[in-house]
Amino acid sequence: MSWQTVDGAHEGHAAIEVPGGHEVTGIQGDTLILDDGTKVSISETAGWRARCTCSWKAELMIERVTDRDVEPKSHQAFDPEGGPAPKWVETTCHTEWLDHVRPENLKSVCQAAEASRASDRSLDEAVAAARESGASWADIGDAVGISRQSAHVRWRRFDATDQ
Ligand SMILES: [Zn+2]
Repeated sequence: MSWQTVDGAHEGHAAIEVPGGHEVTGIQGDTLILDDGTKVSISETAGWRARCTCSWKAELMIERVTDRDVEPKSHQAFDPEGGPAPKWVETTCHTEWLDHVRPENLKSVCQAAEASRASDRSLDEAVAAARESGASWADIGDAVGISRQSAHVRWRRFDATDQ
């Protein structure tokens, strides 16, 4: 189970964490395959943490606890087996990952809005210059792909002599 941003730049998942800092790259039955090719039992699962392909990872690992008699703390999950994250842990990781990608998404909106403002500005300037050199509203409407009337309504404020 993994989550992807629309542009595919980020792919996150609830990663299985093992002691020693190696990343788990696969599961075969009761065996975890690590990024250095070694294999360990799923009972080595230390916990779970949201990770992303951009190399971001959640600060906090949700720790796996195996003692049924101890009440788990908020960042702990009782799981006698190990392996893939329990459902609620996966949901928590997903939420953390969404918080990680949200600023990125907003950054693209800001960039697109800025580009849109810049192109509006250069269109305004081009229209003003065309009016100064004698183009009619019909000419400008044709060039932009809108009606004479729409062109006039949109840009008449640049036209000192045309009230
Ligand atoms: Zn990411």
